[in-house]
Amino acid sequence: MEKRIRELEKQSRRLEISDRQRSTMLEKAGRYGEEFISEISEKPAFESFNSTESKLHKLSFEEGGKSFKKLLNVLNSEVDSKGLNPASGKHGGYIPGGGIYPSAIADFLAAITNRYAGVFFSSPGAVQIENKCIRWMCDLVGYPDTAAGNLTSGGSIANLIGMVAARDDSGIQAKDFERAVIYTTHQVHHCVIKAIKFAGLREAKIRKVEMDDRFRMKPQALSRQIANDKKDGLIPLMIFASAGTTDLGAVDPMDEIAGIAQNHNLWFHVDAAYGGFFLLTEHGTKVMKGIEQSDSVTIDPHKGLFLPYGTGAVLVKDGKKLFKSQHMMANYMQDTLKATEEWSPADLSPELSKHFRGLRMWLPLQLLGIAPFRAALDEKLLLTRYFYQEIQKIEGIEVGPEPELSILFFRYIPDSGAANEFNKDLVDYIHRDGRVFLSSTHINGKVYLRLAVLHFRTHLEEIDLILSVIREGITEIASEH
Ligand SMILES: *Cc1c(COP(=O)(O)O)cnc(C)c1O
Repeated sequence: MEKRIRELEKQSRRLEISDRQRSTMLEKAGRYGEEFISEISEKPAFESFNSTESKLHKLSFEEGGKSFKKLLNVLNSEVDSKGLNPASGKHGGYIPGGGIYPSAIADFLAAITNRYAGVFFSSPGAVQIENKCIRWMCDLVGYPDTAAGNLTSGGSIANLIGMVAARDDSGIQAKDFERAVIYTTHQVHHCVIKAIKFAGLREAKIRKVEMDDRFRMKPQALSRQIANDKKDGLIPLMIFASAGTTDLGAVDPMDEIAGIAQNHNLWFHVDAAYGGFFLLTEHGTKVMKGIEQSDSVTIDPHKGLFLPYGTGAVLVKDGKKLFKSQHMMANYMQDTLKATEEWSPADLSPELSKHFRGLRMWLPLQLLGIAPFRAALDEKLLLTRYFYQEIQKIEGIEVGPEPELSILFFRYIPDSGAANEFNKDLVDYIHRDGRVFLSSTHINGKVYLRLAVLHFRTHLEEIDLILSVIREGITEIASEH
């Protein structure tokens, strides 16, 4: 047996690569990152791909390994040069992501040390770091000391956790789910509808409350609907408002909704996945006034704080309610009860073993300070207004309402022919061209292009390029029509 153990040991020790291998790997990976960043301004924001031709198909997992160089080449040609480039400042579609470098270094360190960030007893420091990030966001929102929260993989899971906390707090029983009512608008993110299903509330009624001409929930309509529902014997459960809808950037009127929620004793959740970090700006605090009166908030550091994908957050004003909704004990976890001075992430979310997510947020905030984040967000707000002003100088352009945050929409009305066809062609032109990326949407049957400015690498130069590509596209399509 010992002989066999020794043989296996020889093989398994290859998992601990040598210091020389480590340093060459690190050097190569560092160079890869350097090249990627240095070329980013010349590279397209979007490149089409053909998935059947991908070299990834031929690269099967085998008993033996392959060279790092070869794998980096595949990564470069098949992954990092295909599709949408979310690291590009010329990406103005959907909601642009981030990818600030200090977070990458934080992830690197977190992966090497592999602290167990789910439970305070196991890694008090890692948990304190997560809790510091949560506390900072609670301060931003205006939540009291009793608040708690969790760093999630993104806004979708954060919304789900908020929804489940609201459901559990209401004390509603499964037999009554049919009579439960959730209030939101047509503009709510589709992950909220998914969350309703995940939360077992598939049979609940979803009221898409009427919106004003800027796509914001009408408080009076909400109030009327709740009263009617109560009269009909239904059970109003929660209000899901948006602080920055993904599609159009609309912010529901927080103050008035909060008042209605209090009157009817309803849970009030704000999905601020996109818009939340604009609270770092003066304009944002005005637009989102009243958010502090909510019961829970979703906010995505991988959007407005420019972190790499995989970081969202849920904040709950009364932290005990979140704990009650998510906490569970197991026999083999009994030692963890020796240290309970701090909330443990595992008691506040469905996750147990957990990536040390806090470090990728804590390190850049500590290293760079808050000022550059605040400035970048103010810059994005102004760039959006600049674009809104400039795009109207193109004859034939029709714009949506003035942007509330950093999303706007517009379309071109051709002299003759169908506007929808023209605008679809215009999006196709932009995608084929690839220098910049915008996405489209439709509102009441009309096709619109939309611009979302949220990348830390988007500055005046990128916005001007987006404007030129649009001008060129209009000229070319007009000549074909
Ligand atoms: C992006 C977004 C979500 C979904 O968040 P993920 O991080 O992609 O899971 C939810 N709501 C809003 C308003 C969003 O913008």
